Amino acid sequence: MKMRPIALSGRGTVGDHRRYPGCRLLITCALCGWEKSYNPERVIARLRELNTGGHGTPLEQVARRIGWNCPACHHVRWRADLAWAPGMDVREIKRLTNLHR
Ligand SMILES: [Zn+2]
Repeated sequence: MKMRPIALSGRGTVGDHRRYPGCRLLITCALCGWEKSYNPERVIARLRELNTGGHGTPLEQVARRIGWNCPACHHVRWRADLAWAPGMDVREIKRLTNLHR
């Protein structure tokens, strides 16, 4: 099962993940579709550590900062989105939303 990107999230910032409890930061190779997901808060922590960003960093910029080659097609063209992991359904999303309230 594949991750499901949240519509339009690619135009948002890393910090937008707080509006979608339980979502992941998904990076996708624009050329072959290889993908890997991360915990958004850890990505933010890393950006802050390097003094290169934080919650307000656009996902577009996160994608541009990825310097390694795609392990599948060896090109470097990444997209970053917020995405739901397989198995996240409406009920699970509501449950997490309530936990954070
Ligand atoms: Zn690729």
